[in-house]
This record gives sequence, C-alpha cells and structure tokens, in this order.
Amino acid sequence: MTKASFVGFSAPAEPMDERKLVIFRIQTKILDVMTRRLLEKGFYWILPVILSKATDPLWPDPEFSIEKKIEVEIYGERVRAMQSMIVHKRVLVSLGPEKFFILSPNIRIERRQRAATGRHLYEFTQLEVEVADAKMEDIFRIFEDLITKSIEAVKRDLGGELKLLGRDLKIPEPPFKVYKRKELEERYGKDWSIEVARHSIDPVWVTDIPRQFYDYEDEATGEWRNFDLILPEGFGEVISGAEREYEYEKLSRKMERDGIDKSQYGLILRLAEKGLLKPSAGAGLGVERFVAYVAGVEHVAEVQPFPRVPGVVPEI
Ligand code: AMP
Ligand code: MG
Repeated sequence: MTKASFVGFSAPAEPMDERKLVIFRIQTKILDVMTRRLLEKGFYWILPVILSKATDPLWPDPEFSIEKKIEVEIYGERVRAMQSMIVHKRVLVSLGPEKFFILSPNIRIERRQRAATGRHLYEFTQLEVEVADAKMEDIFRIFEDLITKSIEAVKRDLGGELKLLGRDLKIPEPPFKVYKRKELEERYGKDWSIEVARHSIDPVWVTDIPRQFYDYEDEATGEWRNFDLILPEGFGEVISGAEREYEYEKLSRKMERDGIDKSQYGLILRLAEKGLLKPSAGAGLGVERFVAYVAGVEHVAEVQPFPRVPGVVPEI
C-alpha cells in the first residue's frame, strides 16, 4: 500500500490478510525481546497514565504539528490526554524507582496533512525509559542493545515472515554514529533528519536539538544534551531523548522563555525548589515506527490493528 492511498483508509470488514498477521508476529517478538532485556537489566515495568492535569507541551519542538489538544473535565477538574509521560517520568525517577520503562499510549491530534508522511498517527505507543543520574551515552547503549537484539531475534525466528513481506533487513552494528545537528544543517539544510540517514545503512544519533524546557541545555556552551535516533531508508526519527533539567531557576526561566503555562508543571517546580528533582536521562521509542521499519512497510498505520491515520476516524 502506498503512503497516499492511506489517506482515507479504514479497516475493511473481512478477515485480515496474512501480511497483517505477520506484522503482528514481528511486533510481538520485538516487544518480547525489548521488555525482557530491560527486565534483565533490573528495570521496573511501570504502567501508563492516560489522563492528567500535566502532560508534555510538545512545544517548542521542530516536529510540532498538533491540530488540537484533547482536554476534558472529570470530577470538576480539567485534564489532558497524554501527549507523552515526560512529567510523570521526571517525578517518578526522582521519588521512586531509579530506572524503569513504560509502554505509554499517546494521543496527538496531528495535522491531517501528516497522513501522507507515512510516519504519523494520532494514537501511538512509546516505549519510554528513564534512568536516574544517567548521561546521554548510557541511553544510547540501552537502545542500541534493544534495537540490535530485537532485529537479531526477528531475523533468527521469523525469517519466513520477513520473506513474505519482501523485507531484507540488516542487523545494525553498535555503537551507532553520532552527529551534531548543526553539522547536518550545514550539510543538508532544514531536511537534515531525512537526508542524514539516506546516506547510512545503520541508524544514526543526532544530538543538540533546541526544544522543550525539560531537555538539558548547557548554558555555558549553548549545547543541548539531547538526541534523536534516525532510521535509514527514509523511515526517519524513531527515538527522542535527553539528559534532563533539574534546577529550579533554570526550569522556571526556560518555561517563561517558551511561554509555557507553569500551572501544569507545579509539582516538578516544587520538587526542583526543594532539591528533590534528580538529574536523569531517558528517551522514548515510537513502537509503531520501529515495527514499520523492521517490517519494511510504507505507512506506519499498516502495523496498527485499528489504524489511526491523521484526519481519518474509522468506525472503531
Ligand atoms: P517525541 O518525544 O515527540 O519525539 O516522540 C517520541 C517518539 O514517538 C518519536 O521519536 C516517534 O518515534 C514517536 N512518535 C512521535 N509522534 C508520533 C506520531 N504522530 N505517530 C507515530 N509515532 C510518533
Ligand atoms: Mg522527537
């Protein structure tokens, strides 16, 4: 199926074809390997929150394209549908488990033009990881391991499935290359995130991307200690992550600079003021995007049992 033909797509009322079942088998294997490896490394498995007064503002971020924010009233209070669990991760890693992961459903009402990118959904799931006192490089190693080991397992156990999909997939070799965003902008212009991986066989890390207040910004050098992982073959960004801000003054100043409504972030600010907000680092991997890459499909919605294509609201 082409990207364009997905605009207007809805699930047909007939048994699924073999391709879809094969994709579910690949996804099952990936989640099995990833969760097992994290558990073996001593991570807690935390369950997600869906509605909360606080969620990710997603702003400022070069990828921002939200048409509408979902807010509802419950028990006389205004709550928002989770755009990412960053606020909850920062609170939890500071007050409780020092390393954990969450399979976290996100609702982001992306602009409908994004149906044609092949990479955007309005409901998707992130594999979120956060580790107290960690650095960017620690998070690189964790995800390189998850990616390499899950692809290895798919190739080993699901060779027939890959063949049915016509997917010839290479096991990437860690450590993946690391580039600075500025270098890439100079080399490729504003479409660097697509261009960079066109010239690579393996995924690549890109660091130093100006964005939300919670990512750590080294004010002395102007460097942002954050990163994306870009997949080859035009699949694009699959992970965003960072070392995190933890100082009250700086958080407060950055929120003001970005025009962020501080009332949603009162708990983080109070913890920071008391010196209880721990430094940490973490990231989120888009599960559907990663599965789409492994399966080699045109549109990320092809991996969903009930596709959530921007602009298309199916019967169920
Ligand atoms: P973010 O923190 O906004 O970069 O989101 C983390 C990851 O979630 C991204 O790197 C993508 O893999 C995935 N993601 C973000 N937005 C979408 C979307 N609209 N549809 C599918 N996956 C997404
Ligand atoms: Mg991102």
